[in-house]
Amino acid sequence: MKKSGFVAISGRPNVGKSTILNGLLKEKLAIISEKPETTRDNIRGILTEENMQIIFVDTPGIHQPKNLLGKVMLTRAQSSIMESDIILLVTEARTALGEEDKNILFRLPDADKKDKPVILVINKVDRFKDKERLLPLIEKASKEYPFDEIVPICALKQKDTVRLLEVIKKYLPEGPLLYPEGELTDRSEEFIIQELIREKILTETYQEVPHSVAVIIDEMKESEEKDVDILDIFATIYTERPSHKAIIIGKGGEMLKKIGTLARTDIESFLNRRVYLNLWVKVAEKWKKDPEALRDMGYSD
Ligand code: GDP
Ligand code: MG
Repeated sequence: MKKSGFVAISGRPNVGKSTILNGLLKEKLAIISEKPETTRDNIRGILTEENMQIIFVDTPGIHQPKNLLGKVMLTRAQSSIMESDIILLVTEARTALGEEDKNILFRLPDADKKDKPVILVINKVDRFKDKERLLPLIEKASKEYPFDEIVPICALKQKDTVRLLEVIKKYLPEGPLLYPEGELTDRSEEFIIQELIREKILTETYQEVPHSVAVIIDEMKESEEKDVDILDIFATIYTERPSHKAIIIGKGGEMLKKIGTLARTDIESFLNRRVYLNLWVKVAEKWKKDPEALRDMGYSD
């Protein structure tokens, strides 16, 4: 019997979604195929084991949309929740089920009409010095919503992600393997690199520049330097306002440097090779109101 399914990973920024995904896909970070014709544009990773395939879909940060791009992102987040077979709601031990989580809770299927498993992942339990605080939290969570499972983990520990994977497998429906083995994701490399950079901007600037920033890869080429195996990546960050550009660059370029370093580290582990990342920041007013420009940037719907 074969099993397969789509698993949506949702949750506020910074709770550890990417860390969990990377942990789950750990040994599979190898082949990335280019399939620009696919329409499911928020697939982040595919895990294939014998007779089993899990397709992880990302739910872009859920906020109240303020413009067209915000709406597109929200629609995508919402549709990946609706279309998935299993929903993972990731939260952080210390702030679990606070106000911001509620924003996401009410986007889950209604408690009385729940038609698919919803798993609550309480991440960063290592930050709880007092382990006794976990139990009341689990109790509170189960009163809040009929979660099928509540799984406390520390995503930094491989053994915890393995345990989470076992739970996910339990709920995976019967079905054929949908993608060829060895495929990590069906999004283009470029798109994922753009998203990795964008994510760093949003987390490092503490969302001072939400939605109004886009990242475009201008060029990717083998380094011309002799005897090195480095990929040169040139990317432009587009902001809507000069003030946002200033925030991203930071004092003396400090912020841009930090964003670049963090993004490069992620890109290197994603591509499994050394990378030189060259970032450029430009102001491009009003692009986010233009559906055509959005399509060009890969935010089509
Ligand atoms: P995302 O925005 O939800 O994708 O969150 P990330 O995966 O980027 O994680 C945000 C930060 O939390 C990173 O600095 C991670 O290293 C850190 N982090 C993730 N999981 C854990 C955990 O279990 N324990 C601790 N202490 N930190 C974690
Ligand atoms: Mg992330």
